[in-house]
Amino acid sequence: MRLKNNIDLRSDTVTKPSIQMKAYMMDAELGDDVFEDDPTVKKFEEKTAQMFGKEAGLFCSSGTMTNQIALMVYLKPGDEVICSREAHIYNYEGGGIARNSGASVRLINRSSGIIYLEEIIDNINPNDIHYPVTSLVSLENTINRGGGVCYPIKEIERISNYCKIKNIPLHLDGARLFNALVKTGVKANHIGPLFDSISLCFSKGLGTPVGSVLIGSKDFIQKARRVRKVIGGGMRQVGMLAAAGIYALENNIERLSIDHYHSELLANALSNCSWIEKVMNVETNIVVGHLKENYQIEEFLDKLKNDGILAIPFGKGRVRMVTHLDVSKEDVEKVISSLKF
Ligand SMILES: *Cc1c(COP(=O)(O)O)cnc(C)c1O
Repeated sequence: MRLKNNIDLRSDTVTKPSIQMKAYMMDAELGDDVFEDDPTVKKFEEKTAQMFGKEAGLFCSSGTMTNQIALMVYLKPGDEVICSREAHIYNYEGGGIARNSGASVRLINRSSGIIYLEEIIDNINPNDIHYPVTSLVSLENTINRGGGVCYPIKEIERISNYCKIKNIPLHLDGARLFNALVKTGVKANHIGPLFDSISLCFSKGLGTPVGSVLIGSKDFIQKARRVRKVIGGGMRQVGMLAAAGIYALENNIERLSIDHYHSELLANALSNCSWIEKVMNVETNIVVGHLKENYQIEEFLDKLKNDGILAIPFGKGRVRMVTHLDVSKEDVEKVISSLKF
């Protein structure tokens, strides 16, 4: 179902809805969701929230939107959010923290993107009028710029306990949380209660054309619904898109382990390629390779492109490949033989 015959490893967002998913979408019952009248959207929001032990959910058009809405609920000018230097909310959301919330950011610098409780404690500002007010901690799982690593659950538990005691809300950018759950065996209803809110993407490994869901308490989601409306994110008969999400929840979670296996195979082939210095540790569906000095990333990508394989540059001298449900075993074998240089 790919455009031409390319093997597209640029992102897990490039997947096309399957015939079965499309058929399921066509059957969705619809209504005006701004009036909260779309039964399929409601069902999708409730199903997602319940799975994670949360009271309510809000269907949005993207993971950037679900993250930014959450930040806008928690933060106001003069506040500060603690997150990793590698975080998507900081790097890839167009400066949205400053633009939308007027808040400042306290970055913790560690290339894995994992931040530890002690670092959070060190970066919470004292109650002193000179400092911004520490109003939120935000984590990411899996960590995109960390090469798709899973956040250690023990560390999440420590951070969650501490934030509860300190009354500081804890948000999770869970764009690829399902990948982490499949990899680690941690249950959704175990991780859900550790956070005040979670953003989940369905248009990545789960294969829907559009959509993310923000989950949290009833009160939080009511506030989030207000913010979604004011930024123009209220949608009408979107039950068809929500149906794709329901289909994905029921059919596309367990199979993520196939993508993880494919990534291991690709990482192995990449590390044997003579242009590659090292490959980041692979845990889920993201493979990141560092090129040797004097090798050009654009040339590397062109070599793959000549064989119909698409990947993307990922920071200086780094290449990223992502596996997903439109990458087959045969595709993986083709990439492996193409990397023999
Ligand atoms: C993809 C992604 C998002 C959301 O991106 P959208 O393209 O706006 O859906 C958020 N966080 C992480 C870590 C991501 O990889």
